[in-house]
Formats: sequence, C-alpha cells, structure tokens
Amino acid sequence: MDWLEKYAKDNNIPIMQKEGILFLTKYIKENNVKTILEIGSAIGYSAINMASVSKEIKIVTIEKDEERYNEALKNIEKFNLQDQIDIILGDALETEIKGKFDLIFIDAAKAQYIKFFEKYKENLNEKGIIVSDNLDFHGLTHDGVVIKNKNLRQLVRKIKNYKKFLEENEEFKTEFIQVGDGIAISKRCK
Ligand code: SAM
Repeated sequence: MDWLEKYAKDNNIPIMQKEGILFLTKYIKENNVKTILEIGSAIGYSAINMASVSKEIKIVTIEKDEERYNEALKNIEKFNLQDQIDIILGDALETEIKGKFDLIFIDAAKAQYIKFFEKYKENLNEKGIIVSDNLDFHGLTHDGVVIKNKNLRQLVRKIKNYKKFLEENEEFKTEFIQVGDGIAISKRCK
C-alpha cells in the first residue's frame, strides 16, 4: 500500500489521510459493514483499503475523471479485488445507483457535498451511515482563519455550509470526529 500512497503524493492525487483511513477501516470491521458506496474513487486507494478488511465486503465506487478511473481499475486488479470493487466512470450527480448500502462514503467535490448527501441518502440501509471526509479542510474551516484567495474562501464557505446542514439536519444525527482531515458520521434518526 505504501507505493500507492507514494504514487498519489508524487502525482498530486488527493487520497484519504492515513489516520482517516485507519479510522474508517476500523469502523467497518467493528460494525460488520458489508456493502459500501463511495463517491470519489480517485486511484482506488480508499476502496482498496476498505475492501481489504474482509472478503465479504462489496464496494461500488464512482469516479468522474477518466485518467484516475483507469488508474483505479489497474490498481484494483493489482490487488486482485475485481470481485469486490465495482468502479463506475461518471459524474456521481448524474449516476443512478440501484440498491442499498450499509455505508456511503462521500469523498468527492467538496462544493457538492449537500447534493451528494441528498441524492444518495436514498441508497442507505435503514441502520446505515453516511461518512463525509475533509470537513476540517486542512484546518481552514476553523473559526478565525483568514483566507486571502477568493476561490479557496468560497470553497471553505461551502464546507462550512455543509457542516451546518449536517448539524441542523433533523433526519440524521451527525458526529464530527477530529481524525485525519475531519470526518463526519451521520446516522438516520427519524
Ligand atoms: N476516496 C479517494 C481515496 O481516499 O483514495 C480520494 C477521492 S479524491 C479526494 C476525490 C475524487 O472525486 C477525485 O478523483 C475527483 O475526480 C472525484 N470527483 C469529484 N467530483 C465528482 C463527481 N461529481 N462524481 C464522481 N467523482 C467526482
């Protein structure tokens, strides 16, 4: 797995932080998660880690960037996980996914998190959870941080809006966890 982390770093491909993936795989193991839908595969790093927890785990993962999708396909084959991971090339906002999942992992365009959440909550099992990554956004979402770059400021505002959306959501109860780049775990409460 180290070579995949190095490849991502050398090629500027954003993958989950080590602490975050360790937390997520521990959660999957301890909670007997068997079916996972991932929004944002990149080169397959998180999907490969999650599938490696148990042979019984099945993952559907969506990636819109063709180059990354092709890299992910190769990596999934290298780990011999084709039977467990089904990767789809496409925009997750336009893809129709059938079936229900124990865990939905949102790790794609930060500005679209509310849309991903609203669309894919329909694919969540009754007792399932939605996990969202990067809610700290390298510490930039913390109070008092001044951001000079306009685009970055807008993105950080959208992430803060998403956190507010989760905090105020009456259908889901969310726990914010300070691990990796900030993870949220949302469970249906209604
Ligand atoms: N989950 C991956 C991991 O930890 O190994 C990292 C995913 S990376 C942070 C986000 C990925 O989401 C990028 O590769 C990007 O191309 C993809 N993405 C962004 N918006 C998307 C969308 N609307 N549909 C599908 N993929 C999207």
